[in-house]
Amino acid sequence: MRAKFDLSRLQIGLRNRFLGKTMFFSKNVPSTNDWAEELARFGAFEGTVVVAVTQTRGRGRLHRKWVSPDGGLWFSVIFRPKLSARDAHKLTFVAGVAVAETLREMYGLKTETKWPNDVSVDGRKICGILGKANASGGKVDFVILGIGVNANFDPKHALPKSLREKATSLENELGRRVRLEKLLAKLLEKLEETYDIYAREGFNTVLEKWKGYACFLGHEVELSDKNLKIKGLACGVNQDGALVLRLEDGNLANIVTGDVSMRSDRGLRRH
Ligand code: ADP
Repeated sequence: MRAKFDLSRLQIGLRNRFLGKTMFFSKNVPSTNDWAEELARFGAFEGTVVVAVTQTRGRGRLHRKWVSPDGGLWFSVIFRPKLSARDAHKLTFVAGVAVAETLREMYGLKTETKWPNDVSVDGRKICGILGKANASGGKVDFVILGIGVNANFDPKHALPKSLREKATSLENELGRRVRLEKLLAKLLEKLEETYDIYAREGFNTVLEKWKGYACFLGHEVELSDKNLKIKGLACGVNQDGALVLRLEDGNLANIVTGDVSMRSDRGLRRH
């Protein structure tokens, strides 16, 4: 096992008000999101964080597999926001901003947010974000935000062949390994800061920050969903977090789910 976390040292240095005050660590779990969800159902406080060295059943959207080898940073956070159920997914944008800003500030990486829930470097995914909300009576009870950062491993060796061209890692980008506790501490601080901005100033401020990292905006993209493929110009992301596409017939479409690939002269870009 390569990664070791000294959580107590991390917590002493943490400047947060609530996020990360309670933390749990495990060498291996099926999924940090499932673990956090179980704790939330038992009443765990907002800001509780769970971290694991590896996940055997990490998930992406639509139950796709998130590969989580040793050396990555795999964690989930419990939030209890005062939000209606229909706004819960907006927290994935909060996480996107926090990750994009952190990796840029700490390591100088040119991070990009990719609609709806990833962070990439030069078109290769470096971080996946997965939100899951639990609501009753139209109000959010809790939201689990799972964040996976490809950190101290080489995708060429640690990830399946099919992902090697689509994924990158901090080790790959920087040519060195990073201190995972330092990275986690900074991510938790940024998450709290961005979450507070959402509560204080509203979603638009978060969305504007997120759009500042969204390099696909203003470009031709291809959107694929289960039964559908559409091409269009990515014009924006609206107040609901939907992708606004100008279709080839000139009409505008608000897209709420799907996978986006950026088109370039050389064909579709890795995404
Ligand atoms: P997206 O938002 O890009 O559609 P998801 O959030 O659904 O992706 O995440 C799951 C997908 O991410 C998988 O189907 C796989 O293609 C890719 N993937 C899985 N593990 C990793 C990883 N460690 N790094 C980068 N990409 C990964």
